Amino acid sequence: MPERIYNFSPGPATLPYSVLEEAAKDIVNFKDKGIGLIEMSHRSKEFMAVADEAEALVRELLAVPENYKVLFLQGGASSQFFMVPMNLLGSGKKATYLNTGTWAKKAIKEAKFFGDIDVAYSSEESSFNRVPEEEEYSVDAASEYLYLCSNNTIYGTQFASFPEKGKMLVCDMSSDIFSRPLDISRFGIIFAGAQKNMGPAGVTLVIIREDLLDATPENVPTMLRYKTHADKGSMFNTPPTFAMYCVGRVLNWLKEQGGVAALQKRNEHKAALLYDAIDGSDFYRGHAEKASRSLMNVTFNLPTPELEAQFIAEAAAIGLDGLKGHRSIGGCRASIYNAFPEEGVKKLVDFMAEFAPKNA
Ligand SMILES: *Cc1c(COP(=O)(O)O)cnc(C)c1O
Repeated sequence: MPERIYNFSPGPATLPYSVLEEAAKDIVNFKDKGIGLIEMSHRSKEFMAVADEAEALVRELLAVPENYKVLFLQGGASSQFFMVPMNLLGSGKKATYLNTGTWAKKAIKEAKFFGDIDVAYSSEESSFNRVPEEEEYSVDAASEYLYLCSNNTIYGTQFASFPEKGKMLVCDMSSDIFSRPLDISRFGIIFAGAQKNMGPAGVTLVIIREDLLDATPENVPTMLRYKTHADKGSMFNTPPTFAMYCVGRVLNWLKEQGGVAALQKRNEHKAALLYDAIDGSDFYRGHAEKASRSLMNVTFNLPTPELEAQFIAEAAAIGLDGLKGHRSIGGCRASIYNAFPEEGVKKLVDFMAEFAPKNA
């Protein structure tokens, strides 16, 4: 492997090096068939096998029950913000949302175009530094679904467990899907943009319970109906072939690592290294409340914005890249998804330990 920097970017984010190498080769000459991956018909038997394998790996790794469809769509996770309510709501229908950050707030804005939206909880006043305990909100019995964003990428908060409330859950898992095992049967819809934890930008994974495919109001356009894509195995139109291929390769890598339960242990360990470094110092201050801390995005501040800028620049100079926090809260953010190596986390922890006494 050549010299690589440690890429703490929130997304697009670090991918396994073996996947990058394999993709580079397959782009030019797919499995030595004399044709490049990205010039192959999506209906060729070679690509159909790629798509089938990606779907099978999603099903296997997340133990997706038979009565759920796995879809590969375009338009990013952001398109799911409107597609979910457009398909599940309609006049007179209600849904409950938890406002735990920018991405949840964007979903709420779109949902309001399609139904009666109850925002049952918000942590906006404390800069989204926490997610709620279940007793902090209630869900109206008439709500079609309870919507949440499982990991708040920008603020570094995460639901450690999923709500028991509500008829069913709809969840944006863009930044923590495949990071831990799930009980899929609690969910009506799970969606995730690929570019954080499972591949390059360009494809959005949707896992949807089959009976919901028939809930869509009649005036919803063909391309925006889940059923259209479910009926055609995500081949109603040309799917994002390269991104789907990469997702398949990343999931294959994940399986080789021992699957999502093994990855969860590794993720807990990596995050603990960083949180211990933060908690063991007066110099660094975590943004998220302890009980809400994310294993994927670790957000922290230094005593001043000037020191933060210096920290980020000096870290980048030694190959620790992408540590700048989101513009909405500033500070620093270390995104340490599945494919981010533990050595990179250790190098950051060492750098933090050196930087603090020199600049305190
Ligand atoms: C990045 C992100 C999104 C937006 O994803 P796009 O694919 O860019 O639309 C949505 N939700 C969460 C939690 C994210 O981290």
